[in-house]
Amino acid sequence: MNINIKSLLCGEKREIEFSYTIPLDYSENGYTVSGDAQVDGSVKDMGGYMQLASECKAQYKTQCARCLKALDGVCSVSFVRTVATKLESEDDEEYLLVGEGSVINIDEAISEELLLSLPFRSLCREDCKGLCPKCGCNKNETECSCVTKELDPRWAALKAFKAKDGE
Ligand SMILES: [Zn+2]
Ligand SMILES: [Zn+2]
Repeated sequence: MNINIKSLLCGEKREIEFSYTIPLDYSENGYTVSGDAQVDGSVKDMGGYMQLASECKAQYKTQCARCLKALDGVCSVSFVRTVATKLESEDDEEYLLVGEGSVINIDEAISEELLLSLPFRSLCREDCKGLCPKCGCNKNETECSCVTKELDPRWAALKAFKAKDGE
């Protein structure tokens, strides 16, 4: 969505507030961000420069990293950008460029910030037991009798040593 800051640029106003929703739909790293995200913020005349501050809340779907159970979550971000009428260098990400018609657009910045805010992985609960690597059952719900305990190689060596010792 375009935010018109003309009244700020010509000195008519010192602050412009905005609030809108944007539909999001993208997947990344096992997360699907979808639905309408709420965006709120303001652009302020800081005396010599303009600053945009924004907050955004979006819903995501993912699955438990251990048992693959479907999970829903909400991620929220807040960020600040300096608004500039021209950029010093092309790849200055901290700056937002004012486009034609005195508008700025932060939709791309929102998507980027949301992606960065997603957790590295999610668990359905802290102590999720996950799936049995042998039979595939969900160990939170079923107790299978598979023997999956892998011996630590260091312990295996010690065990061998002890066995020899006991000869
Ligand atoms: Zn789980
Ligand atoms: Zn099993």
